[in-house]
Amino acid sequence: MPSYRDFHRESIDDPEGFWRREAARIHWETPFSDVLDRSNPPFARWFCGGRTNLCHNAVDRHLAARAQQDALIYVSTETGIERRYTYASLHAEVNRMAAVMRSLGVKRGDRVLIYLPMIPEAVFAMLACARLGAIHSVVFGGFAAPSLAARIDDARPALIVTADAGARGGKVIDYTPLVDEALSRAQHAPAQVLLIDRQLAPERLKAPYIVDYEPLREQYFDAHVPCEWLESNEPSYVLYTSGTTGKPKGVQRDVGGYAVALAASMEYIFEGRPGDVMFTASDIGWVVGHSYIIYAPLLAGLTTVMYEGTPVRPDGGIWWRLVEQYRINLMFTAPTAIRVLKKQDPALLRAADLSSLRTLFLAGEPLDEPTAAWIGDALGKPVVDNYWQTETGWPMLAIQRGVEALPQKLGSPGVPVYGYDLRLLDEHTGEPCASGDKGVIALGYPLPPGCMSTVWGDDARFVKTYWQSVPGQHVYSTFDWGVQDDDGYVTILGRTDDVINVAGHRLGTREIEEALSSHAAVAEVAVVGVNDAVKGQAAIAFVVLRDAGAVDDPDAAKKLEAALAATVDRQLGAIARPARVHFVSSLPKTRSGKLLRRAIAALAEGRDPGDLPTIEDPAALVLIREVVMGRG
Ligand code: ATP
Ligand code: MG
Repeated sequence: MPSYRDFHRESIDDPEGFWRREAARIHWETPFSDVLDRSNPPFARWFCGGRTNLCHNAVDRHLAARAQQDALIYVSTETGIERRYTYASLHAEVNRMAAVMRSLGVKRGDRVLIYLPMIPEAVFAMLACARLGAIHSVVFGGFAAPSLAARIDDARPALIVTADAGARGGKVIDYTPLVDEALSRAQHAPAQVLLIDRQLAPERLKAPYIVDYEPLREQYFDAHVPCEWLESNEPSYVLYTSGTTGKPKGVQRDVGGYAVALAASMEYIFEGRPGDVMFTASDIGWVVGHSYIIYAPLLAGLTTVMYEGTPVRPDGGIWWRLVEQYRINLMFTAPTAIRVLKKQDPALLRAADLSSLRTLFLAGEPLDEPTAAWIGDALGKPVVDNYWQTETGWPMLAIQRGVEALPQKLGSPGVPVYGYDLRLLDEHTGEPCASGDKGVIALGYPLPPGCMSTVWGDDARFVKTYWQSVPGQHVYSTFDWGVQDDDGYVTILGRTDDVINVAGHRLGTREIEEALSSHAAVAEVAVVGVNDAVKGQAAIAFVVLRDAGAVDDPDAAKKLEAALAATVDRQLGAIARPARVHFVSSLPKTRSGKLLRRAIAALAEGRDPGDLPTIEDPAALVLIREVVMGRG
C-alpha cells in the first residue's frame, strides 16, 4: 500500500487512472468507454457508456459465494421483532417487491417515494427500485405532512410506499393520516400508495388509493425480475438534504460512480471485509443510512444490522448488547447518540463483550473533544470521526485507516479523502488560505465518483448554489468553514452562515461551543449570533447542564455564568465571550441530531423561525423562546 500522501496525490493528479482501477470492484454488464467526461463542467460524468445495476452488485453478485451468509439482520426494540435475511432470502424478497412494483406500473426512470420506518421492507423497496431502474426518493418516516407534500411535488413519484405506522420510544406514530394529508396538499400526488401493514396502528386509513403489499407479495412469491442495466450516469436516487440551512435540495446520485465509490470506501476508510458485520445506527431517511446501512455493506459482501429503536430503550446498554450478540465488527453513528449514551450508567457498556468491535465511526455533526475522549476511553477502540454531506454521499475528511493509519488529532475529522481535491479558501478573495487560517471548505472540479450529479430537475440551481459562491473560483462550496494545519488535518468550525462578527472580529459559533463544552458542568451547548447595536453581533449561548439542579438558585446561576465566561476568555479571548448564557433543559434538534441554529438564532432575535424540519422535541423550541423573553 502506498502512503496516504501518495495515494491522495495520485487520485487528484490522475483521476482517470485511479478510478479505472477502483471500478474493477463492481460488475459491469457492458464495460465503460471513458472513465471521466469533463466536457461540461461543473458536471462530471463517470464511467461513461458502462452499464451496471446497483441491486445486482449489492445482492445477485454475492449469490455465488455467500448465498447462505446473513445479508441483513433486523432488530426492533420497538416491536420485539428480530429477522435475519441471507443473501439468498434478500434476493427473493427484493424480487417479490420488484414484481409487485412492476405490477403497479413502476418502470425505469419513474420515481418511487419511500416513506417508511426502519423495517426490512424499506431495504427491499430501495433495492427493488434499483433493480427496476426506478429512482427512489426516501423521505424520513415521521416527517410532517407539509414536508412530505413538498417532496412529493418535487419528485413527482409514480408510487409511494408506506407503512401503517412507525414507532419511536414506545410510541406508535400513525403514518396513513400523514400520507393522506400530504396527498391532498400535493399537486402531483401519485394514483397509488403501496402499504406495508405492520398492524401497529389501531386503525389505519382504508382510502381507495391504498394497495396492500402482503397479498401481492404472495401472488409474486416466486417472481424473478431481471435487473435493468443502466448507463452509469442514469439517476439511482434523489435524497433531500436535512434543510438545516434552508429549502431542502434534491440531491441526485448516479449508478456506477456511486457503486464504485462506496465499494472503495469500505476498504480504504471503513476497513470492512466480506463477511464482517456492520451496524450503522442511523435511519434510511438520511444519507448515512443510504450509503452505510444499505449500499456500501451489501456491495462489499458484509452483513448489515438494521435497528429500529432508540439507544436507551429498554436501557442504555442495548447497542452494546447488540455488538456482543451479533459479533459486530464495525459501528457507525452520530455524535449525538454518543452524548446521549454518555449520560447513561457506564457499567452498561462494560457489561457487554465488545471484543468483536474493531472501530466506531462517527459523522453528521461536530464531534466535540470531551465526547470523543469519553467514548474512545470507554471502548478502548479507534473512534473515527468523518466529515461529509448528503451531497457527497461518502466521506470527504477522515483518517483512512485502510490506506495508512495516520495518528488521530482530537477535534479534527482528519485529512482529505482520496478523490477529493479539498481546499480551504478565503471567502472574500477566493485565495487559498495559509495553514492555520480559517476558510471555506471547497472542492476542486471534478467531484469524485459517488457525489451528487445535480439537483433533481434543476441543473441551474446545482451550478448556482454550489459552484458560484466562492469569488473568482470554479469550486464546489461545502458551505462549511474550517482550518487546516501543517499536516493537512482539517478542523470544522461550523457552517459559513454560523460565522458571527463581533466588533469586527469573525468568530465561529462552533469554536465558542467547544470552549463552553470543555467546562465540566456542561452537557450540551448551542451558540448563535444576535444583532447588537454596538458590536454588530453578539454571541448568545444556550447551555444544557449535566446536572440541571446546579442553577436552581439565581446566585448559583450567576456564578456558573461567570465561570463559563472565564473559560471562553481563557481559550479564545474575551472578544468571544457570550453576551448572555441561558440555561435550558434541552436544545431543538432535527431527528438526525443536528442543532437547529438558524431557528435558535431567529428566536434569540425575537423573529419567527419560519419553515422548520421535523424537530425531535418541539418543546425545546418553545423553551428557547421563553428564556429569551425572560420567562424561562
Ligand atoms: P441543509 O444542507 O439542507 O441545510 P444539512 O447540511 O444539515 O442540511 P446534511 O447533508 O445531512 O444536511 O449534513 C451535512 C453537514 O453536517 C455538513 O455540511 C456539516 O456542516 C455537518 N457535518 C457532517 N459531518 C460532520 C463532522 N464529522 N464534523 C462536523 N460537521 C459535520
Ligand atoms: Mg448542507
